[in-house]
Amino acid sequence: ALVARGIIRYVTPGTLTEDTLLDARADNMLVAIGEAGGEIGVAAADISTGRFETMTIDAAVLAAEVARLGASEIVVAEGSALDLPLAHGFDRTAFSSARAEARLREMFGVATLDGFGSFGRAELSAIGGLIAYLDHAGQGVLPHLSPPVHIAPGSHMAIDAATRESLEITATMAGTRPGSLLHGVDRTVTGAGARLLAADLSAPLLDRGGIEARLDLVQWLHDRGGQRDALRATLRALPDVGRALGRVAVGRGSPRDLGQIRDGLGEARMLRERLAGAEDRPALLDALLPALDGHGDLVDELTRALVATPPTEMASGGYIAEGYDAALDELRRLGSDGRRAIALLEARYRDETGIASLKIRHNAVLGYHVEVSARHGDALMKEGSGFTHRQTLAGVVRFNSVDLHEQATRVAQAGAHALAAEAAHLEALIEQVLARKDAITRAAQALARLDVAAGLAERAAEGGWTRPHFVEEQRLEIIGGRHPVVEEALRREGQPFVANDCVLHGNDRLWLVTGPNMGGKSTFLRQNALIVLLAQAGAFVPASAATMSLVDRLFSRVGASDNLARGRSTFMVEMVETAAILSQATGRSFVILDEVGRGTSTYDGLALAWAVVEAVHEVNGCRCLFATHYHELTRLAESLSALSLHHVRAREWKGDLVLLHEVAEGPADRSYGIAVARLAGLPPAVLARAKQVLARLEAGKAKTGGIAAGLDDLPLFAASAAIEEKATPDALREALGAIDADALTPREALDLVYRLKALADDGAGH
Ligand code: ATP
Repeated sequence: ALVARGIIRYVTPGTLTEDTLLDARADNMLVAIGEAGGEIGVAAADISTGRFETMTIDAAVLAAEVARLGASEIVVAEGSALDLPLAHGFDRTAFSSARAEARLREMFGVATLDGFGSFGRAELSAIGGLIAYLDHAGQGVLPHLSPPVHIAPGSHMAIDAATRESLEITATMAGTRPGSLLHGVDRTVTGAGARLLAADLSAPLLDRGGIEARLDLVQWLHDRGGQRDALRATLRALPDVGRALGRVAVGRGSPRDLGQIRDGLGEARMLRERLAGAEDRPALLDALLPALDGHGDLVDELTRALVATPPTEMASGGYIAEGYDAALDELRRLGSDGRRAIALLEARYRDETGIASLKIRHNAVLGYHVEVSARHGDALMKEGSGFTHRQTLAGVVRFNSVDLHEQATRVAQAGAHALAAEAAHLEALIEQVLARKDAITRAAQALARLDVAAGLAERAAEGGWTRPHFVEEQRLEIIGGRHPVVEEALRREGQPFVANDCVLHGNDRLWLVTGPNMGGKSTFLRQNALIVLLAQAGAFVPASAATMSLVDRLFSRVGASDNLARGRSTFMVEMVETAAILSQATGRSFVILDEVGRGTSTYDGLALAWAVVEAVHEVNGCRCLFATHYHELTRLAESLSALSLHHVRAREWKGDLVLLHEVAEGPADRSYGIAVARLAGLPPAVLARAKQVLARLEAGKAKTGGIAAGLDDLPLFAASAAIEEKATPDALREALGAIDADALTPREALDLVYRLKALADDGAGH
């Protein structure tokens, strides 16, 4: 037969719902970006679960937002100047903000969007683009989206793409999940929990109330091991209700998806009963409980309607339970009666023909037929045998008979009717499920939140982690801090991890950390950044105590020398990223800078590192850890009052270097580079030569004062900054001051603009 052909769907990375194509533990975000009035709107959705977020942002943080969302696909208006990897253009007119508003109202059946928060024009444009693109990809079938959650600017910690990468939050620099913070922390037992944890770690909170609410729940579960174990055991058996619902909503739901929704909601109801009886419930738990219930009638209906484990395929039926529909049961009875009659017929034919090997078989082409081996074929071919020849194959001959045909028709008709009846029931059940998809999504989200909290509590109990405390005044006090991933890795090798303190506050907010290679500087820097991130995501932290004020922006930069080894970065990138920090870090930010200035010559590098430290101290005023091999920088302690010196300890013992991984006060006594090279197995001849060169260099340094000798009478940072600033604006100001605006002819005005522009360009070059 001819099969109708047409495009029914475009399969794109951001519009997948198939289980087999999706990572169960990661969101799959489709992001649309709209522009209006100089603002950028972002609309992001995971259509496999209905997660839907929108926001209006500054162009400067677009890359960071896209990185936070972990976009699989990005859609922008055709011809847009936005330059993002993964982005592709789509029909410009789809991004109209006016149409988007109407579309949203229609989609959610509301008269006004006020209930969802207030959307900017750029945001609406993005929403319009997103919905139109989904409509196009699904060829008219729209997936289920939860009502859009409007993310207010500044509601989460700003972490740019480079920082995310360098801190290896959800993936390592090599792109793998093992080795990332997420992997080291994740003890969730459901896909939805894992996805929510990834989202939480990608967007630490900035409001203390929200953080404390999450921490209260983690603490509650942390302190109640029995309760936690029971909860996690229940959650572990839960199907992925969110994703099952996503498939149902796009019309690709199978009987098994409905079974999963039934089982998930059923468990949720029991969970609620159990948790509602628990003592001292934290507020967040109380807020989650109502979402877990309210689906009793749907669960009952699905339980009556579906078999215990429904199949994914509808084609052969058998998913609607016995006893749900009397008519269906009757059709099934007719079918099985027919099959029984056919079996009897087979026995009769064997008797009548005396052919013991005669069989009645079924296949897709012939349907039911009588089959005998070739040597018995002739007997049935005879006139009056009652059999009609259908087919001769190499070894067998096949026949039909009037009785068989009659029974076969009965079976086929009953089967077809039963299939149709089952399909009709399925459709009705799907309708019931979709009628309350938002409430089901809320139940799925509540389960995910419980899983995240229980997983974090489990991780904390496992690693002896502690609850962070927040204070108002600028502070970061981590006692006995550890690196969540490195500690795990060392433990597996049977090695201990040395815990270290980090205490930054108003008068001592910049630590300059020196010490040998492999001494643990990078580990120390990162562990403190990760602890801040975990704390504000609402998790316990790997430390014996942690007290901090909220961090608005987190920055991590690794010098080009470290990154070049991975073939990733260049000195230029390092400087671009450092520039971003200097322009964005505030007094509430936390910055870690690891060997910045290493990617160029010693003199340039030292000069840049020097100036960067001064700027961070004098201008940004943020809390900062700065690791460096430039010992010359330790002189900064004399001029910068809130800077202090620290080093990772090492000792040479019987000619061997012993790295203690301990952070102590004061500068490192020397750099131990050659000792580390020996550890690495550099040939003795090379080591001996290097020692000889070093001795000469150090002798020269003693005589001349070394490369920092000229720095003794360096003017203050503030003074040099003032000189730089004064250079051009004054020339411009003079020119502007001389203008008599009323006396200018249009021609003169134009000339003047050119002259002023030339002056400004000239100034920028100095
Ligand atoms: P480089 O200057 O060469 O970049 P580094 O001082 O930054 O070196 P790290 O990369 O932080 O050193 O650490 C090197 C190794 O030392 C780590 O891979 C880890 O195995 C070990 N290490 C680091 N910190 C600790 C610690 N606190 N306790 C135990 N081992 C540690």
